[in-house]
Amino acid sequence: MKTIQAEFHGDQLKLNQRPDLMADDQQILIKVAAAGVNPVDTYIVAGTNNYTANFPHTPGKDAAGTIVGLGDNVEGFELGQRVYCAGTLSGASAELCLASPNHVYPLPNSLSFEQGACLGTPYATAWRALFIRANSQAAETVLIHGASGGVGLAAIQLAKAAGCRVFATAGSDAGLALLKQQGADVVANHHLPEHYQALQQAGKVDVVLEMLANQNLGDDLPLLNKGGRVVVIGSRGSVEINPRDLMARDACIMGMALANATPQQLQQIHAAIYAGAEAGFVNPVIAKRFALADTTDAHHAVMQAGATGNVVINLG
Ligand code: NAP
Repeated sequence: MKTIQAEFHGDQLKLNQRPDLMADDQQILIKVAAAGVNPVDTYIVAGTNNYTANFPHTPGKDAAGTIVGLGDNVEGFELGQRVYCAGTLSGASAELCLASPNHVYPLPNSLSFEQGACLGTPYATAWRALFIRANSQAAETVLIHGASGGVGLAAIQLAKAAGCRVFATAGSDAGLALLKQQGADVVANHHLPEHYQALQQAGKVDVVLEMLANQNLGDDLPLLNKGGRVVVIGSRGSVEINPRDLMARDACIMGMALANATPQQLQQIHAAIYAGAEAGFVNPVIAKRFALADTTDAHHAVMQAGATGNVVINLG
């Protein structure tokens, strides 16, 4: 099989030929049709943000494809089934990948393999942030600060379907147009300093999903309603806040790492994603697609400014 591998942190990604993987008793073997590319994949290859890896390392947590091998002790799946996985044992950037049954989910018929490859990290992150951490309720206002990427677009779709009013930001004209097309009620450009004023004028927010806390957290707090909640999903440095902005509002800031989701939460989250796809509102947007041999370019693309959806590797 063809697989992408790095030999050490910071290595160039190379396309290698390796013997085909085999599923052991407890594993599922998936013929990968598409692999999702997320910022965390680049952190793991680079070894930044405290991420480590076993080498040779094949990047990628999210994949979608067809089951081609089932361990003797695996129940509830069948050969040939369309599935996606949220976490792999062997890496998604390969023609074959191994996954544990508790990280494999049926792929809704309404979604393509490319779209399925965007569910594992972006949608699960958005769902856990919105509904488990922030406990967002219908008719509340949710600001998605950094909404043009994989997590943010998922959050718009989920929050709108839950009956929330959505404020959303992007850093490019194409991104802002996409947010409107996805149903955001108010949009603003997060690269313009005056965007905080524009958001303030649009009304108080109950929940903030923050993708770049090191830039925005201090300015998010005055936007909050009483009882407001800020969920820190992404941050690339430290930041100063004024705690009095929290006191005055009985507000709180909370962290969120998808890796902390319990098995029960993952079942709940992925059942909700399946139901959302069946209902039609879970509908991942593919911004850029790459061939397996161009995985390095895909890793650069996911870190570039001007996001307009998810980056995927298409192995079809
Ligand atoms: P992505 O697809 O690369 O999107 C990045 C988003 O950040 C884009 O919408 C981008 O907007 C936006 N952004 C850029 N500058 C910003 C600013 N000054 N203020 C607000 N937003 C800004 O990444 P993603 O998959 O959506 O992930 C978003 C962040 O969450 C990343 O840092 C990622 O590492 C993190 N994350 C965390 C978890 C977790 O478990 N905590 C899980 C998944 C992802 P423009 O490109 O339009 O400027």
